[in-house]
Amino acid sequence: MITIKSTPGQDVIKHECESHRDGDWIIFRCPLCPDYERRFNWRTDEMKVKGDHPRVSHSGKYYPHELKSVFEYPN
Ligand SMILES: [Zn+2]
Repeated sequence: MITIKSTPGQDVIKHECESHRDGDWIIFRCPLCPDYERRFNWRTDEMKVKGDHPRVSHSGKYYPHELKSVFEYPN
């Protein structure tokens, strides 16, 4: 399981993101913020964020069901 979380602060609104996988990238999108997108590369640990807002704490989870089969049955 991969979990992302923004740094919490005061007067912060919490939004739960929806996630899906696109190749090596796991993409988190917020249903309430059309501009927001967070990408996490599970191979390189690279993280990219677009449209983040300082007053909004975005969090999301991704359960790599597909990856599990890849790890369990290589080749
Ligand atoms: Zn949001």
